[in-house]
Amino acid sequence: MHLHSITVADPPLRSSYGLHAPYALRTIIELKTDDGITGISETYGGDGPVAALEALRDRLTGMDPFRLAELYQQMNQPVSDGDRSQTYLLPGENPLDQNARTFAAIEIACLDIIGKAIGKPVCDIIGGRVRDLVPFSAYLFYKHAGGGGSGNDRREDEYGEVLDSPSAVREATQMIARYGFREIKLKGGVLPPDVEISTIRALHQEFGDAYPLRIDPNCAWSVETSVRVGRSLHQELSGGGYLEDPCPTLDGMAEVHRCLVAENNHTPLASNVAVTNFADVPRARSREAVQIVLCDPHYWGGMRQVQHLSHLCGVLGMGLSMHSNSHLGVSLMAMTHVAAACPNLTYACDTHYPWQTAADEVVAGGRIPIENGCVRIPDKPGLGVELDYDQLARGRERYSKLSYRKRDDEAEMRTHVDPNWKRILPRW
Ligand SMILES: [Mg+2]
Repeated sequence: MHLHSITVADPPLRSSYGLHAPYALRTIIELKTDDGITGISETYGGDGPVAALEALRDRLTGMDPFRLAELYQQMNQPVSDGDRSQTYLLPGENPLDQNARTFAAIEIACLDIIGKAIGKPVCDIIGGRVRDLVPFSAYLFYKHAGGGGSGNDRREDEYGEVLDSPSAVREATQMIARYGFREIKLKGGVLPPDVEISTIRALHQEFGDAYPLRIDPNCAWSVETSVRVGRSLHQELSGGGYLEDPCPTLDGMAEVHRCLVAENNHTPLASNVAVTNFADVPRARSREAVQIVLCDPHYWGGMRQVQHLSHLCGVLGMGLSMHSNSHLGVSLMAMTHVAAACPNLTYACDTHYPWQTAADEVVAGGRIPIENGCVRIPDKPGLGVELDYDQLARGRERYSKLSYRKRDDEAEMRTHVDPNWKRILPRW
C-alpha cells in the first residue's frame, strides 16, 4: 500500500460551514498485488484519514482483494441506535463513519485491481452498468474572487466573485456552456434567504423547466425559514428538483415536510447530513423527514454499500442522489462507475470537479471530460484511469509546504471575511 497525501487548489467557495481554504486535502491510495497489478482510489486528506489507513497496513498485506466482505465485517460493527447526526461535522469527519470511509478507500482500489485482473470496467464487475453515460449537476457556489491556490501557485479565477443573483446566473451560464449540465444545484446557507430565493428564481427564469433546480443550505435555516423558502420556491423546486438539508435534524425536516404537504407542496426533501448511515434510512422514512438520500461511496462504505443503499431506497420508495466533496479524477471515476451500476439513482450526481483545474489533476492524460453534463464509462478495465506520477509528486510537494492538515472552513472565514465569524445553526 502506498499512500500519497496531496493538496488540490480550491477556490474561495462559501457554504454554511464557512469558506473553502486555498487548498483542499486529498489522499491517493495505491494497492499493489504480487502479480504486478496496481489498484487506485482517492479519499479524504489530512492526518486522520492517513492514520486510519496506516493502521490497516498489516491487515491488508497479503490480503486477497476479492475477499472484501470479510474485511468489511471485521471493520464495521453493527450500528448503534444513538444520535448519529453530523449536523456540525464536515463530510468525512463523522467519527461513527470512520471505518466506513477507510473501508471504502480500500474497497475501491480492490475493485480497480479486480477489474484489471479480469479485463472489465468496475461498473461491470459489481453487477453491471445500467447506463454508459452518468449525468452530473452544475454545482453552483457563492464565492469570493479568486481561483484557489496561493502565492505564485494561484489558479485562474474562471468565475470571479459570485455574491448575488446576477453573478450566480452568470456562473451557471458559464458552467453549463462548458460542461453541458442539465440539472443545477445551488449551495445556499450563505446569503440571507431572500437573496437565495431570488437566485433560484433567476436561475429558473434563465434556464426554464428543462433544468431541475436544487438548493442546499446545509442546515442554515430554522424550520420556519425552511417552510417559508419551500413555499416561496414551490414552483421552481418541484419540477424534478429538491430542497436539501434545509434545517438540522430528522425531526426538523419532518416538521418542514409536514408543513409543506399541508399546503399541497410536495417538494421532496433530500439529505446528506441527517441521513449518513443505513440505520438512518428507515428512521428518515418512517418520520417522513427525507424523501431523497444522497449517497457517496467515500463515506457510505464504498461502491457495494452504495448499491445496497440504492436497493434499500428503492424498497422504501425513496429517491437516491449523490453527494460530493472537492475531489480529483480518481474519485470522479469511482462515483461514475457506482452511479452507472445503481438502477434507481434518478438524479444527476453532484460533483465539485469543475472547481478544480488541470494543474492539480493526478490522472494520466489530464482532466476527465464532462460532455453534455455526463461522464462516459471508459472502455478500459478497472476504474479506467491511471496515475500521472509527476502530477502526484507535485501534489505531494504542495502538501509538504502546507501549514494545515485538516479542513477548517470556520477559521478561513475568520481570517479572510469576518474575524468574529462562527457557524451558527440555524443562522436564519
Ligand atoms: Mg448537501
